[in-house]
Amino acid sequence: MTEREKLVELKDVQITFGKGKKKFVAVDDVSFDIYKGETFSLVGESGSGKTTIGRAILRLNPISAGEIYFKGQKISGKISKEMDEEVIRKCQMIFQDPYASLNPRMTVTDIIGEGIDIHGLYSGKERQKRIYELLELVGLSREHASRFPHEFSGGQRQRIGVARALAIEPKFIVCDEPISALDVSIQAQVVNLLEDLQENLGLTYLFIAHDLSMVKHISDRIAVMYLGAIVETAPSHELYENPLHPYTQALLSAVPIPDPTVEKAKKRIILEGEVPSPINPSPGCKFQARCRYAQPICKEETPNLKEMKPHHYVACHMVK
Ligand code: SF4
Repeated sequence: MTEREKLVELKDVQITFGKGKKKFVAVDDVSFDIYKGETFSLVGESGSGKTTIGRAILRLNPISAGEIYFKGQKISGKISKEMDEEVIRKCQMIFQDPYASLNPRMTVTDIIGEGIDIHGLYSGKERQKRIYELLELVGLSREHASRFPHEFSGGQRQRIGVARALAIEPKFIVCDEPISALDVSIQAQVVNLLEDLQENLGLTYLFIAHDLSMVKHISDRIAVMYLGAIVETAPSHELYENPLHPYTQALLSAVPIPDPTVEKAKKRIILEGEVPSPINPSPGCKFQARCRYAQPICKEETPNLKEMKPHHYVACHMVK
């Protein structure tokens, strides 16, 4: 088997915010690789650090420690102007709320054309042709080009957001909860669109989601995050069939099953409380306050990620 090419690499990345007593660790020693052409998903409740990581890869959040690489080149910290431009050109983001992320006073042509103009890719008729092509690529039509965002449905607006991200021909896209603000009936359409684009354009995705309900099929691998750290990572099918971390098990128990008999018999694991404050966290496992299996060791030692099966890693003292 040929070795897969790593497109993005995170090595021991730490991201902190605030200072002194208010300082908190939003991302705590996170490492992972994203291979060319795959979808790697980060899943966790709000405040788990997943969006902060996505923004750090795009250089929108500085990192406090560790390193980030794109195509083998370091892109964190101080880098050359050329490398900075390479990241802006090749790495894009699709946002959660398509309405908030589109300027209401701009037409679709101007929204999609903005990146084309900034990077001087096309002008005149070529520019308009490219905008029409992009609209068709995302399932809209050239008639939509002169309209404003408020004239579209939520699903259509997200398609405009996708076209805007594709305008400068990126290789890597951070999809930051791109479907969670949409109706359930529309979610699958946007996921299918992203999958088709990935196949046709050879894109690589970092897909961010707050639960496990919609990421099974789009993901090749999934990392579950809790309070700034990865607690479990595995190929998608393996994570759904054999979740090992108590937090992953709780997230999975909340995913509805289409078969009503199985759904009725399923036991939902209710997690008490919210994600605790990341300011001055207690020593030991970050999940201890909400974990039904917690033992004395969990208060003393922080569990590290261990490979329990090929490519399946978990950070829990009780998983042996
Ligand atoms: Fe629960 Fe302990 Fe495992 Fe943490 S290490 S998830 S507290 S059993």
